[in-house]
Amino acid sequence: MSGFTVAIVGRPNVGKSTLFNRLLEQRKAIVDDQSGVTRDRQYGVADWNGKYFNLIDTGGFVAESEDVFEREIRKQVHIAMEEADLILFVCDTTTGITGQDEDMAHVLRRSTKPVLLVVNKVDNSERALYATEFYSLGFDKTFFLSSLSGSGTGEVLDELVTYIKEEEVSLDLDKDGNPLPKFAIIGQPNAGKSTLLNALINQERTIVSDIAGTTRDTIHTYYKLFNKEFVLIDTAGIRKKKNVHEDLEFYSVIRAIKAMDEADVCMLLIDAKTGMTAQDVSIFSLAARKGKGIVLLVNKWDLVDNKETNTARDFEKGIKEKIEPFTDVPVIFISALDKTRIFQGMEKALEVYDNRNRRITTSVLNEIMLREIERYPAPMTRGYSVKIKFVQQVPTAVPSFAFFANHPDGIKEPYKNFLENKLRSHFNFSGVPVRIFMRKK
Ligand code: GDP
Ligand code: GDP
Repeated sequence: MSGFTVAIVGRPNVGKSTLFNRLLEQRKAIVDDQSGVTRDRQYGVADWNGKYFNLIDTGGFVAESEDVFEREIRKQVHIAMEEADLILFVCDTTTGITGQDEDMAHVLRRSTKPVLLVVNKVDNSERALYATEFYSLGFDKTFFLSSLSGSGTGEVLDELVTYIKEEEVSLDLDKDGNPLPKFAIIGQPNAGKSTLLNALINQERTIVSDIAGTTRDTIHTYYKLFNKEFVLIDTAGIRKKKNVHEDLEFYSVIRAIKAMDEADVCMLLIDAKTGMTAQDVSIFSLAARKGKGIVLLVNKWDLVDNKETNTARDFEKGIKEKIEPFTDVPVIFISALDKTRIFQGMEKALEVYDNRNRRITTSVLNEIMLREIERYPAPMTRGYSVKIKFVQQVPTAVPSFAFFANHPDGIKEPYKNFLENKLRSHFNFSGVPVRIFMRKK
């Protein structure tokens, strides 16, 4: 999965949010609620022709005064140029080119990142005629579309994905040249990521080296534990960057997404004091959608008063209700501050890494799964019986299983869930999203 990141910028009301939703289709976005001058920012993962990319709608802002407006625009463009690999600069044909469009264009023309100019609200051929004035903004790649109807979006996406390179080979290798397991520590600001990292680093003396990312935005630390080598990816350092303070949340989410992309397993820190928030659930869903292994670490457990035997169990139950249907995920209660159970957390991450690499031989898979299917066959659809004849694990990074059937379209979500649950009950895929496909046989 690529970590290619696309940012949508433009002044208010040009249709950024509409374009964002159009490119994302029905998928869930992470919404970063903003108060005051800025409206919600949104994050999501989109795909086109089998290529995935992160999409960020940098948000808008309510123009109260010209000053606020100028500052916010500059900030938005600045963040996009810094964090994204490609920028979609959206303008509105119904207003024509405004002074603010020109200001933004001026800054964006000097961007080292590719910029695609998107002239929006070109809903009909009459508008298409006027829209050509936008060529004067001087962008080689100019597209005309209607986010509302979707017409023209295919051309932009075709161009956009040409910038996405095939997955880069990992540089984190062991002495035999094999890739090392990569674990990302992610979570909201103040969840305790830096504290956890420091606790892990201070306790272990066998760290090979620290390399601060020169070209990457995340920090990779080599680590050895239980005689196993791995790499910890963290985003804790972002606070040191200038201008980050007021946009901490925004940077944090972008960095969490990038760290996620680089990792095999995500260690998602939940603050025990706040519980699993809607934002945490969104980050969790995104990691699952990216096919990453996940371990949930409930941090600051030392702050939970009057713990009884059931406290942790009830807390875990509450979390699982929020992350349904993918609930086969380890939950560990830790205190990064007191260094309680932090190594247990690492052990779990290693276990999930192994689960993600689990390959089940075709003979074992068929023996076990066909027996389960025989016991509880797929329901009839439109008068014919659906027969699954063969199962095979597909050789992909994320455990994926192809079920071959006479009428693959006749198998619906509930039965797929049944198959997934049976797979999970026979084989250990704890913490790992599993994909189920139906194929024609
Ligand atoms: P943002 O502030 O840039 O995110 O803009 P929004 O996405 O909120 O859109 C502003 C307004 O423009 C909304 O009323 C949208 O329905 C409308 N809009 C967005 N795209 C199109 C389009 O392609 N055609 C037309 N006619 N209206 C659009
Ligand atoms: P980050 O923003 O996710 O890197 O969070 P930090 O590591 O900076 O932690 C934020 C605050 O939470 C700091 O004041 C930490 O001392 C505190 N903190 C972190 N972990 C724990 C914990 O396990 N227990 C308690 N009581 N406080 C913690």
